Amino acid sequence: MRTVQIIKGCEEGRLSRAIAGLLSNSYKITFERMRDSVVRATVRNGDSRDYHVALADEYVFCDCPDSFKAGNICKHIVMVAMGFTAAQVVQENKKIASKEVL
Ligand SMILES: [Zn+2]
Repeated sequence: MRTVQIIKGCEEGRLSRAIAGLLSNSYKITFERMRDSVVRATVRNGDSRDYHVALADEYVFCDCPDSFKAGNICKHIVMVAMGFTAAQVVQENKKIASKEVL
C-alpha cells in the first residue's frame, strides 16, 4: 500500500486538518478491511456523520463532498492512510519483538 504517497499527495491545509483531527480525538476511524491491497474504513466526525473511505494501489475514495465532488485527497483519506500506516508499524514491531524472544 502506497500510504506515504497518498499522504504526500494531500494539500497542506487538508493535511494539517487531518493531523489536528487525529490528535483531537474528535474523529473515530473504524477499519472494516485491512489488507495490503485494499483498506476500507469509516470515519465518523464530531457530528456523528460517517464518511466511507477506500484505499488501494490503483485508487483512493471517500464519499465526502471534498473528495467525491471536488476530487481532492481529503482529510478522511489521509486519516485512514495514517491509521493504516501506524497499524502496520505496530504489527512489524510485534514481529521483531517476538523474534527477539526466540
Ligand atoms: Zn473525505
